Amino acid sequence: MSKYIIKAHKFVTVSELGTIYNGAMVIEHGKIIALGSWQDIKQRNNEQLPITDFGNLTVAPGLIDCHTHLLEFAPTSLYPVTKDTQTLAAKAILLKTLASGITALGEQICGSPMLYKEINDLKRSMKDFPIDISYATTSISIGLEPIQHFTSVTGSIAVDRDVLVQHNIIMSIAQNSEFPGENIFINATPANFTKDLIPNAGVIIYSQEELNTIVSIFHSINRKIGTHVAGEVGIDMALNAKFDVLHHAHGISDEQINRVAHQKVKIVATPLGGTHLPPNTVEEVMKMVNANITVAISSDGYLPPHENTVTFPKIMQGLIGPDSLMAIANPFMKKLHEAGFGENDILSLITLNPAKILEKDHQFGSLEVGKDANFLVADGIPGLDIVDVEQIKAVYFCGEKMIQRN
Ligand SMILES: [Zn+2]
Repeated sequence: MSKYIIKAHKFVTVSELGTIYNGAMVIEHGKIIALGSWQDIKQRNNEQLPITDFGNLTVAPGLIDCHTHLLEFAPTSLYPVTKDTQTLAAKAILLKTLASGITALGEQICGSPMLYKEINDLKRSMKDFPIDISYATTSISIGLEPIQHFTSVTGSIAVDRDVLVQHNIIMSIAQNSEFPGENIFINATPANFTKDLIPNAGVIIYSQEELNTIVSIFHSINRKIGTHVAGEVGIDMALNAKFDVLHHAHGISDEQINRVAHQKVKIVATPLGGTHLPPNTVEEVMKMVNANITVAISSDGYLPPHENTVTFPKIMQGLIGPDSLMAIANPFMKKLHEAGFGENDILSLITLNPAKILEKDHQFGSLEVGKDANFLVADGIPGLDIVDVEQIKAVYFCGEKMIQRN
């Protein structure tokens, strides 16, 4: 179907249109070309376009998880695959992601020892998959003894720390990075290892001078840069060096939240974990939103939940991924609702704000005329009213219905 109408009880647009009751949306060639009340759209429908009526359901923008590790680490963590089946595992993971309402991802390419294939082969295999994937190239420092460093340029062989600060390596990472992901790890990460294996998690890898230089290399070719960072010392260094996006920012102080707002830095909160410190609290994220910081909530999946994640049911065991994004974001979204924020602003935490991190908010992230027709149809507002993926009844990518539940 190249041109048709979607009709439903409620459209949460996450745009200036806010929520539209008894609304309708006209899609043509994968784009939204009109959006408004059913009355309006009906009157203008002199072409007798086909209508899909979703009755009492809610239409919302496709969800976006802007910090994931689905291609490098997840396939071999979740499936007993070989070089020949790794791509299949990646596709299975992406299908599960799509089926949970996610139509765009911010994927980190760190240079993984767990990858059997060339990352570019894997990326190519995903090219036609109905999810918009942006790739951030990075280096990574893992807090084992001794600390192990990898880069997306040098691939699955560990490198000396000094390689991380070589001009040509940084330049290559910058040139290949499509958005400010966790391009460098200011603190060594625990990755998915158990505590006993990672005595060096949290160790600061760079000097202030080195960080300043790395940021200036990215900025010299007009690339924004993000960082994996946690703890007040690391966050101060990141803000001094003028990073554009902080990923995790666990343990951020009130004063630093003000500084982030003042410097117009964006934050990707990862409430499940992902650093050496306890993850973001609901109160922390409330303060960020109140300070008008662009905050996205992300899974950092697949990840074992931190023991101190106060925001996620303890019954969830094992590795958690983007199919749990609604559940991960739910305590934050509920708290904002209690504090009187509107549902469109609240939903932006997992739609428009991550689209801004990916620098694709002109293309998707909200329901607006001219944007890609990436949307879901559900029993309520994803993450706020519903957390169960079974309640997502349909997912559309570029105007095509890709997921359907009865
Ligand atoms: Zn990560």
